[in-house]
Amino acid sequence: MREDRAGRQVGRTNQGLGPAARGRQQSSSSPQEVGRWLAALPGAQPVLAGARHAGRNLGRHLFEDRVMYASTEPCPMCLMACYWARIPRLIFGASSHDVATYGFEDLQFYREVALPADRRSLREEVADAALRDQAVDVLRKWADMLPSSVEPKF
Ligand SMILES: [Zn+2]
Repeated sequence: MREDRAGRQVGRTNQGLGPAARGRQQSSSSPQEVGRWLAALPGAQPVLAGARHAGRNLGRHLFEDRVMYASTEPCPMCLMACYWARIPRLIFGASSHDVATYGFEDLQFYREVALPADRRSLREEVADAALRDQAVDVLRKWADMLPSSVEPKF
């Protein structure tokens, strides 16, 4: 992270984007406004930020009728955000191979998450039974508050 002239943290990013309908960006903010907003969110990713921004402007968080445009292939986190937002189509300019040429790690992260969990550099483990039970209880209570029953998604 580096700081801009105003002292805000600015991360290295390689993407510009946004969900659009019929090829038009659905945002009323200028790129400068979006940039300032991104700078205020340390670790914010452009595709995530664009989806949030569009969601705020459109009053929803799902974009089943939209196309995501990005200047580069999204990083794995942003790609998952596209899935969460139910975006059916993604169009990008530069590929992860292209951005790797310029020092971005997206391609390495794609390779990492494709590995079996026991071979990844990030060690993941389930907490002890008591903590897991507490966490699952929170989920159960949340599901009990929903107006209809939850459908498991295995
Ligand atoms: Zn990203």
